Amino acid sequence: MLTTTDLPVVVVGAGLAGLACAARLQAQRIPVVVLEAADAVGGRIRTDVVDGFTIDRGFQVLNTAYPALRTGVDLERLDLRRLPRGVRIRRQGELHDVRHPLASPGAVFGDIATSVVGLRSKVALARYVASCVVARPPTVKGRTDIEARLAWAQLPDDVVADVLTSFFAGVVLEPEITTSRVFTDLMMRMFVHGSSAVPSAGMQALPEEIARQLPAGAIRLGTPVARVVEGGVVLTDGTVVEARGVVVAADPWTAHELLPELGAPPEARAVTTYYFAAAPWADVDPLLTLDADGSGVVNSVVLTASAPEYATDGRALIATSVLHVGGRPVLEAAAAQAAARELHEAPNGDWELVATRDVPHALPAMTAPHPLRKPVEVIADRLWVAGDHRDTSSIQGALVSGRRTATHVATALGSTTSGRTR
Ligand SMILES: Cc1cc2nc3c(=O)[nH]c(=O)nc-3n(C[C@H](O)[C@H](O)[C@H](O)COP(=O)(O)OP(=O)(O)OC[C@H]3O[C@@H](n4cnc5c(N)ncnc54)[C@H](O)[C@@H]3O)c2cc1C
Repeated sequence: MLTTTDLPVVVVGAGLAGLACAARLQAQRIPVVVLEAADAVGGRIRTDVVDGFTIDRGFQVLNTAYPALRTGVDLERLDLRRLPRGVRIRRQGELHDVRHPLASPGAVFGDIATSVVGLRSKVALARYVASCVVARPPTVKGRTDIEARLAWAQLPDDVVADVLTSFFAGVVLEPEITTSRVFTDLMMRMFVHGSSAVPSAGMQALPEEIARQLPAGAIRLGTPVARVVEGGVVLTDGTVVEARGVVVAADPWTAHELLPELGAPPEARAVTTYYFAAAPWADVDPLLTLDADGSGVVNSVVLTASAPEYATDGRALIATSVLHVGGRPVLEAAAAQAAARELHEAPNGDWELVATRDVPHALPAMTAPHPLRKPVEVIADRLWVAGDHRDTSSIQGALVSGRRTATHVATALGSTTSGRTR
């Protein structure tokens, strides 16, 4: 007869948080089973191949400076393709390259913003970036957490509107930047210290790399969990899966349904990415391109300029993203295409819409003040929660959350042998 200690820990959800949690538990020789509703691992990091094009389910990148990528992920195996550091910004109809984020404090007053803003603004921007980069992470984390747009109130208007808002709107997926300034400050550090990159096979290679660390059979795909009960979970087909403990690592909105004790779910930030294919043109610029002129495109990039593997027929693959207003993308595909052509200075010619990826639940909002660490224990022992909504809405946050939860699980299971008491 099975005793409680023979049972596995059940992790609900094979996104980054669930996988990172399971891999950490496995490494500590705690048997684990991951129950995933979808047909593959990855959660919000999935990749499809469409007509030979690599299509991520919404444009996203990892940052090579994320501390959580230093352990538990074999970056070599991801065969990363780095986007060039910096951005290109359209302002008053002209394109400006911001090519040199600061690599060191000594470069603070260097070539940060070329001509996109004037000299006074350039110095103010450099000071702001330096305040994020020079300070140690605990200092940044200890700052009074207010909305980033309020924290930027002392900066010149053009720095805020043309540079910071243009850039961060595509990171936090909201144009007002009511997001936590601690988060945006921490992200600024990452952008300065690291590079944005995609695996040559698409972003899903990241969760797959973590899944690889689990034994065969530890992940059950197509297995949606309907309820969490005492001693396990119930699947939507009524099957009961007994568990020594349960970690709910579903997306934030499902997690809040499965665990009503978490309270109200966070607001969802939404984005749509249109993927266009076009004959490559001369002088294709690989920089992430932003639009301070308000076309509605939040950012656009010629992915194949950095990751040629994203297309197999030699054409350029362009990822053009737009935010949502009133539950709909602010631009339909045709308008996004027209705006993207201008942003990339692409000549007239056939652009084909290869794929559209609408992601209404892309990020849980991090409206200030945002606690960087929310509790992972849920009411009773033997029940935990993990996911980006417990830390920060990012790859970094999801990985940290999963591992942090695993540590709590291992400690609790190491110290008790009785069944879950919930
Ligand atoms: C379009 C887009 C762009 C982004 N851009 C970036 C970026 O550039 N940089 C960055 O750092 N981050 C970015 N992110 C954020 C990052 O991808 C997420 O923060 C992270 O992937 C969240 O991982 P998670 O494990 O917490 O949740 P999820 O990935 O949502 O994983 C939850 C898993 O639980 C499963 N599940 C749900 N319900 C059930 C159920 N009832 N039973 C079983 N399984 C269930 C889901 O299918 C899913 O696999 C972006 C996200 C999106 C969507």
